[in-house]
Amino acid sequence: MIDKNILETLVLKLGREAVVSEPEDLLVLGYDSTPGLHHTPDVVIYPTSSEQVQIAMQIARDNKLPITPRGSGTGLSGGSIPIKGGMVICLNKMNQILEIDEENLTATCQAGVVTLDLFNAVAAKGLFYPPDPGSQKISTLGGNVMEDAGGLRGLKYGVTRDYVMALKCVLPDGSLLSTGGKSVKDVAGYAFKDLLVGSEGTLAIITEITVKLIPPPQDKRTFLAYFDDIRIAGTAVSKIIAAKIIPSTMEIMDKATINCVEDYVKIGLPRQMAALLLIEVDGHPAMVAEEATEVERILNDVGAAEVHVAKDAAEAASLAAARRTALSALARVSPTTLLEDATVPRSMLAETFTLIERLTQKYQLTVGTFGHAGDGNLHPTVLCDERNTDEMKRAHAFYDELYEQVLAWGGTVSGEHGIGIAKKDYLARQIGPGGVAVMKRIKQSFDPDGILNPGKIFIANGE
Ligand SMILES: Cc1cc2nc3c(=O)[nH]c(=O)nc-3n(C[C@H](O)[C@H](O)[C@H](O)COP(=O)(O)OP(=O)(O)OC[C@H]3O[C@@H](n4cnc5c(N)ncnc54)[C@H](O)[C@@H]3O)c2cc1C
Repeated sequence: MIDKNILETLVLKLGREAVVSEPEDLLVLGYDSTPGLHHTPDVVIYPTSSEQVQIAMQIARDNKLPITPRGSGTGLSGGSIPIKGGMVICLNKMNQILEIDEENLTATCQAGVVTLDLFNAVAAKGLFYPPDPGSQKISTLGGNVMEDAGGLRGLKYGVTRDYVMALKCVLPDGSLLSTGGKSVKDVAGYAFKDLLVGSEGTLAIITEITVKLIPPPQDKRTFLAYFDDIRIAGTAVSKIIAAKIIPSTMEIMDKATINCVEDYVKIGLPRQMAALLLIEVDGHPAMVAEEATEVERILNDVGAAEVHVAKDAAEAASLAAARRTALSALARVSPTTLLEDATVPRSMLAETFTLIERLTQKYQLTVGTFGHAGDGNLHPTVLCDERNTDEMKRAHAFYDELYEQVLAWGGTVSGEHGIGIAKKDYLARQIGPGGVAVMKRIKQSFDPDGILNPGKIFIANGE
């Protein structure tokens, strides 16, 4: 519970509407989208300007309150859960698109702008902001920057990092830092912008973001390819890339996911198939025609059971929308959904599917796998029940063994969801104790008192 005097100071300096302290309101802000994790904050601040963020952080610092930044709480590694209590600063009322600059092809937004709102606003001016996480209808740009979110178009267009040009932020001591700008080239000093992207709210609170925009593709073609064996789908991905074609989208769903999605959206997906790939090629119409022919040929050559071409933009949009429901659809069927973010070099996809199948049997689990196959980024999702301790033990052993092999193949423990609380013990396995020590020194130089998003990314002494 927040001290009465601190509460009064917050209300006095920020206004009653910016401060939430009722227990029933605080309860829901102790969750994000990661299962099994919760901690109620003592107070939540909804700033509407950078100045308000500064004031809140100064009050927190003076009173030694831990601060946890929050966007929409769709994170999947526990990053916005205030595990040490204290103050949550929720940016989602800072939701103004400040400028769309058509001469410089940039957009400048407050950090709480919802990803899809930016996409739609720039699309109305004939421009394109590609990063499109599955959560784009809810997630904020600040959360996207802090997790370096990917999306369905990541294969060709890259991830959030590739579009961030400038950031304005408040440091843990309440001072301002501005980094980057609208110039396409900038090598003045250390690249703070690049350090801040993906820093999971542990170094600064982002209040304003300038992103790069690009012209939209003129044409696109969307395919759904079905497979009797998921390994063939993995081979298809590798062959398409090896043919020097970079589709904008190459997304996979296995049989369990196809069935859950079909139960949810009812668009006639074939339940008997072992896997499907959603593939989209886009660009200049002549190139799209050429690449579409080649993709179809490769799919048939590797032995796809069926290849369906979307008849129009509406059908293509509904197929992408169905894929975006994968996590929600899987989450409906069991009390607990453990989702991971294993990413391998694309050439190892078929082997990864074999491994997931073997481990599923070994640990007697129900697993649905979907993800950004073109990026080698898979989300093997264990459908389980956290009240069943034996099942949870088996689920964790499944991920342990999976990650051991993923790392041995040169992969990563997180392609896009971050480390947060959920994957702290895996980080050192990937980057080694020396890498962790350097990261801790960087954290220390931004946040010497350790008040910003404590308990995230690093295992504390004695934990
Ligand atoms: C259904 C579903 C689908 C998803 N699909 C994808 C996907 O395709 N690709 C992908 O990459 N992720 C995906 N995610 C994960 C998640 O949506 C992303 O990580 C997203 O970027 C989080 O945004 P948010 O606004 O919800 O941030 P939050 O969850 O609120 O916060 C995420 C992290 O950023 C920090 N943070 C938030 N805002 C700020 C700020 N302004 N300043 C400093 N730190 C801040 C928080 O402290 C936390 O550490 C999905 C999640 C769901 C539930």
